[in-house]
Amino acid sequence: MKDRESLINLFQKELPRILPHYEERKGQVAMAILIAECLAERKNLLVEAGTGIGKTLAYLLPLIQHGRKENKRVVISTYTKILQEQLVKKDIPIAQRLIPFRFASAYGSENYFCPKRANNSLRYGLFEREEERYLKDKIFSWAKEKEGLLIDFPENIEPNLLNKINRDRDNCLEKRCPFYEECYYFRAKKKWEEAEVLVINHFLFFAHCATDYKLLPTFDTIVFDEAHRLEDAGVNYFGIDLSNNGLKRSLELLYNLKTKKGLLNHLPLSLSLQEHWKKRLEKLNISLNDFFLEITEQVAERKRILSPLQLASDFIVELEDLNLSLLRIYQEMRDDDLKPEVWGLIKSLKEKEKELKEFVNLGDSGSVYWWEREGGRIYLKSAPLSIVGMMKKILSNFKVFILTSATLTVAGDFSFLANRLGMEEYQKSIFPSPFDYEKQSLLFIDERLPFPKEEGDFIRRCAQSIDELIKIARGRTLILFTSFKMMEEVFALCRKGEYQFLKQGEEPAYQLLKRFQEDTTSCLFATASFWQGIDVPGEALSCLIITRLPFDVPDEPRIEGIVENLRRRGEEPFWSFQLPQAVLRFRQGFGRLIRNKRDRGVVGVLDKRIIRKNYGHLFLRSLPENLPMTTNINPVVGFFRRR
Ligand code: SF4
Repeated sequence: MKDRESLINLFQKELPRILPHYEERKGQVAMAILIAECLAERKNLLVEAGTGIGKTLAYLLPLIQHGRKENKRVVISTYTKILQEQLVKKDIPIAQRLIPFRFASAYGSENYFCPKRANNSLRYGLFEREEERYLKDKIFSWAKEKEGLLIDFPENIEPNLLNKINRDRDNCLEKRCPFYEECYYFRAKKKWEEAEVLVINHFLFFAHCATDYKLLPTFDTIVFDEAHRLEDAGVNYFGIDLSNNGLKRSLELLYNLKTKKGLLNHLPLSLSLQEHWKKRLEKLNISLNDFFLEITEQVAERKRILSPLQLASDFIVELEDLNLSLLRIYQEMRDDDLKPEVWGLIKSLKEKEKELKEFVNLGDSGSVYWWEREGGRIYLKSAPLSIVGMMKKILSNFKVFILTSATLTVAGDFSFLANRLGMEEYQKSIFPSPFDYEKQSLLFIDERLPFPKEEGDFIRRCAQSIDELIKIARGRTLILFTSFKMMEEVFALCRKGEYQFLKQGEEPAYQLLKRFQEDTTSCLFATASFWQGIDVPGEALSCLIITRLPFDVPDEPRIEGIVENLRRRGEEPFWSFQLPQAVLRFRQGFGRLIRNKRDRGVVGVLDKRIIRKNYGHLFLRSLPENLPMTTNINPVVGFFRRR
């Protein structure tokens, strides 16, 4: 009772005292009370918090109180490092003004600068270009002032360079390292140990679970923010993601055939043996190219590989042999500085060899395998079809799991997400957004367009409808697509000139967003990552156009595998998987429009399946209850005139 009162007091008295513009929201206080109860009673909770509720403080304050009372560390996990940073910069400082507490933000160890590795890379001549050395010097002095967290470095660090200066758990000497006292990673770890609140990301959470819960300090209570992305993070963590360039980079640490630099020059080998190794590496490089080429010739890009690959290339065997030879040299080595570098390389090549074997043999029957191209790189990929089994094991190791996000439900039902995450027993609650959607927004469904399956005509009419809406809204429009191809086709047909048109892919996403926000009449054409997580409050985003209902492409390898699995189990995948998945994504897209109480705007949906198909009601029922809807363009004109 006392805890509850003091929690309410924080929201009703203390927050208004320190934040002059703070407005109490009933949903926020109710959500905080519910979270406090679940923490006290050790119950898992799924809680959907509509945009504008103030969900971060709603979970942060009861969580801190709980940790304090139990004298235990509590953890918050967000989907991305950017969100992690937002939490640390924005909400945690507010909470700290109310309840002083120690916190730390933890990242995967590969994000930390390793002075020993950087020194060794220099010593063994691994840096290839003069500018790398320059950058290395810059990073050295920068790291001294900062905390050695490489993602904070103001310039882009190429993977080639990163690979030579970041922490590698396989060659880290830990307490035996001459740099241990000043080591950024171990200093950070000390802070994690001391923290009462630890902020992590979902990917790191899975890494912690996969390493027998040893990566992070102990904890048994965790809040997942952006919990609708938890499955994605698990799938990414447990899947294979191996590129030809990544493999080449690893081999170049041993010896770079172009620059003639590498660890090989420092191994205790006679000149003739060194020459022999160089020839061997030359051959291995050719095999590597053949290996990737053969895969791309045998299977089409982004198509599921259905049976183990029969390849003529001996690349994997050669890699295995090379690693064995390297291990023998390692065992004879005396140089204590060089040994960890060689050991790190052996471990990393061994890991890659294991993944390659799994890939060609389709080693895990619960995963799908495919390859894809990006730029000049070829990626071999795998993804588990489900993380339910893993999640069940993980859940049994924690006392309380709290999952929150603005989009956890499909037409008010949590079961889709809970099932995908293997959660069986949990409390659930929805706290709707405090925004007045009736006054602030309008949903326009353009029935004049054909169904999307009439592709050519649909694209042409889409462009016309977009032109019309942009004109009515006087620019200020975000147009969301479900594929790059469609975006390009529609973009080519849209009328340019009056407003600045921005298109995803033209520049980095953060720059595009900045320009979209600053030029308040500009229009942004975008796909995938722009459906969620972007925050553009104010006039710049006054019209949001959803061109198609965001169903996954059915022949995307993982989707195809899941659908097949569900059919085998006698389920109807459209209703049990594809539809709810699309509804969640649609809700995410919709949520980009109204970001605060002053925002006003129109959402235009150009896919009339939302009202013509028997499943459309699930999309509509997942939107705010009092949202006005029209299929007539005149109310849209009226809406913008009223501004
Ligand atoms: S302790 Fe490990 S991470 Fe730290 S400087 Fe030494 S090798 Fe690098």
